Amino acid sequence: LYGHHHHQGNLVTHGRKSKPQVYLEHFDGSIEKLHKEGNYRIFANLQRHKGNFPNATFRKADTERMVKIWCSNDYLGMGQHPVVLQASHEALEKSGTGAGGTRNISGTMTYHVALEKELADWHGKEAALLFTSGYVANEAAISTIAQLLPNSIIFSDAKNHASMIAGVRNSKCEKKIFRHNDMQHLEELLAAAPADRPKLIVFESVYSMDGAIAPIHAICDLAEKYGAMTYIDEVHAVGMYGPRGAGVCEQIGAADRVDVVNGTLGKAVGVFGGYIAGSAKLVDAVRSYASGFIFTTALPPVVAAGATASIRHLKESSAEREAQHLKVAQLKHMLKSKNLPVMDNPSHIVPIHVGDAALCKAASDELLNAYGMYIQPINYPTVPKGTERLRVTPGPLHSLNDIMTLVDALDDIWTRLNIPRAQEEHVAE
Ligand code: PMP
Repeated sequence: LYGHHHHQGNLVTHGRKSKPQVYLEHFDGSIEKLHKEGNYRIFANLQRHKGNFPNATFRKADTERMVKIWCSNDYLGMGQHPVVLQASHEALEKSGTGAGGTRNISGTMTYHVALEKELADWHGKEAALLFTSGYVANEAAISTIAQLLPNSIIFSDAKNHASMIAGVRNSKCEKKIFRHNDMQHLEELLAAAPADRPKLIVFESVYSMDGAIAPIHAICDLAEKYGAMTYIDEVHAVGMYGPRGAGVCEQIGAADRVDVVNGTLGKAVGVFGGYIAGSAKLVDAVRSYASGFIFTTALPPVVAAGATASIRHLKESSAEREAQHLKVAQLKHMLKSKNLPVMDNPSHIVPIHVGDAALCKAASDELLNAYGMYIQPINYPTVPKGTERLRVTPGPLHSLNDIMTLVDALDDIWTRLNIPRAQEEHVAE
């Protein structure tokens, strides 16, 4: 192994130092680089309490305090919903913890079969397939689908999530990146590609950091015109949009038009895991060829049972979605009334523009220290430099009073740190 390492030359010139010491210096250097750029990450150590979301205990060194979480992707609070907890408890009591194997080798349980059936029905597709996470689902499914189409070309939106980029890259297929949500550019690229080569368009519905929503019908129109397959990541939309909460495609009547849907069980569903849904043949092919599906332990029964209960609930109940949409509207309205630079979008994500990494971190620190509110700063490389922001995700469990307190805190911090306010035109929008 060492013989093939390109740093081997250094080992000789470092004289008495052993190999591991030299390696550690490389790690130190890489970490030092992040510190210098201001990109070194420190995780907030939080403990959520059942029945008390969005409040959580925040621990630092040997201190602890209660904070209010404003940046969770448990958008609807389903992670603590009684029906989800009950189903999880029952599965735990009945079947224990782990699945005990890969799906192929003793790991497929009644819970997985039921959940895949539930997911297929949710998206109006013939079949669905579970993965360890939404990330793994994207990486494994995109790379496998593209590889199974001989000589295929992938058309990928410029703002696609890292997991989709990993799938595109690992497919080793030719790729064309189209400018974010730019239909003219996508059409140019499709038109320039040979008509006889298979084409796969990969994109998201709700883009997580801006909250922009893709022109799904327009993408499907182009896919039809140029004979391309469509693969949509609805990770930030499942549970959130449409009469049964199946996502933006359901909401706008496009569920039948997209070939493959990707989703997560870890955000609005409130549990953990990922999946794809599509035609029986496509799902069977991914099941049979995707390494990231085949060679890994199946989800624990408690996870599958909890997710199934959550989805069954979200199909029937729109109360959580309606409460969430109301809180989003209230927050956006109040931010605008204080001239705070909320970035406009049609979704449930509320990004507030700061535009500077150090200021963004300072605003976040101030919120936590002075007000007990936790909003992780979103800096480069998650978003481009100069577009640093606070990304707020209010939910049904934030009260109107919580929202007013947050907006007052932000108003105060924006003044004290002298962060730019919204432009006049921005407010008028
Ligand atoms: N796609 C998008 C757009 C995401 O934002 C994320 C996670 N942040 C994922 C996929 C991965 O989902 P999971 O967290 O279930 O791995």
